[in-house]
Amino acid sequence: MRLVFIGPPGAGKGTQSARLLQDFGLPHLSTGDILRSAKEDRTEVGLLAAEYMDQGLLVPDPVVVAVVGERLESPDCSRGCLFDGFPRTLGQARSLDEHLQSAGTPLDRVLVLDVDRDELVRRLLARGRGDDELETIRRRFDQYQEQTAPLLEYYRERSILRPIDGGGTPDEVYGRIRAALEDLRVR
Ligand code: AMP
Repeated sequence: MRLVFIGPPGAGKGTQSARLLQDFGLPHLSTGDILRSAKEDRTEVGLLAAEYMDQGLLVPDPVVVAVVGERLESPDCSRGCLFDGFPRTLGQARSLDEHLQSAGTPLDRVLVLDVDRDELVRRLLARGRGDDELETIRRRFDQYQEQTAPLLEYYRERSILRPIDGGGTPDEVYGRIRAALEDLRVR
């Protein structure tokens, strides 16, 4: 099973993807995690990515597409994968499609977490990660609106998009996610 999980910053993707991974036993492909760890290791990719991440900007497509391509080479990804925070631009979505189509393993479903903006800011400020300052948060929202929101239409046209109401407790949200994937589980 190949799932994409997208949502604005602070929507609860991290919490929900942890549950999904455990429940479905899928390998995790989080570009945020990969890029953060490259940054900590001070690799060439990590240092380049840090310049964008620290400002709340998206890392350029070629860099992100390359790290995803590398991760997809690992044998564990052959049985499926949860793409977490990727794709975030139309260019990334098209690259992913090309890759998956040539492998004969298209995406099964795209989940998008919907949470209203005031609630998102409240959650982000409570989390206090390095890139969670107010100005950076604002920029990450803008990037989401400008670059990532257009993806929703792209996937809606293919009838694989499932919007999930991200309000309420983590249990409530996860219940909705499971319901949106119920038909895939039995396959
Ligand atoms: P995340 O942990 O998913 O919120 O990602 C943290 C930061 O990593 C983002 O604000 C971006 O700077 C960068 N990043 C993660 N995934 C992507 C992506 N698919 N495309 C571009 N930049 C990304």
